Amino acid sequence: MNTIKENLIRVHERISNAAHRAGRDPEEIKLVAVSKKVPLEKIKDAEKCNQLIFGENYIQEAQNKIPHLDKNLSWHFIGHLQSNKTKQAAELFHVIETIDRLKPAVMLDKHLATLHKTMTILIQVNIGREPQKSGILPEDAENLLRQINNLHYLKVAGLMAMPPIFDDPEMSRPYFAKLRNMMEDFQTKKLLGQDCRPELSMGMSHDFEVAVEEGATFIRLGTAIFGPRS
Ligand SMILES: *Cc1c(COP(=O)(O)O)cnc(C)c1O
Repeated sequence: MNTIKENLIRVHERISNAAHRAGRDPEEIKLVAVSKKVPLEKIKDAEKCNQLIFGENYIQEAQNKIPHLDKNLSWHFIGHLQSNKTKQAAELFHVIETIDRLKPAVMLDKHLATLHKTMTILIQVNIGREPQKSGILPEDAENLLRQINNLHYLKVAGLMAMPPIFDDPEMSRPYFAKLRNMMEDFQTKKLLGQDCRPELSMGMSHDFEVAVEEGATFIRLGTAIFGPRS
């Protein structure tokens, strides 16, 4: 098996190649190392290779890991956020990528107010309209975005999605393009990206190059960095 260092080098080459194919600057693409079920030692190995952004799916697992790691790391929550876990999420994470309903957003805002802290969030869109998946339906996203823009402690930075899984990553392309189009529409309507360039979190180990070609600014990779999860 390859080392984490080798995997990271290879991933950065592939990001760079995909960015150049699309005429993009590779520096625009930020790598989120998805460390769910990955032990602390391996996270530290990745950190030694200058990997500073990590993603976790479960609050309890994050509580057992984040306090034991370097304070300079940036943590993204990428799992399903339950309203009763928003306090812990507010304390632990720097970015919540998976806001898809108003209720947890309001709860999160309330906890952030007591912490005197603002939080960058992304709205998760169920771009493939899959019943078993989290995320707001595309036609409901604008309304949610408008409501969340009224909350003081949440800063909506962009959109996140997980398209259906296909064997052929090319099949994901229309879904990535659709998320980008939604983002551009919100930008035109001045609902997003007023202060800085909007983020698009899309692309995982099997399809990140296509996502980069379609405009991803965050890609979320677990297996490609840490190997298969047990
Ligand atoms: C697990 C997970 C990933 C990473 O998946 P890999 O296929 O291992 O790269 C990315 N995003 C989300 C939301 C995940 O749950």
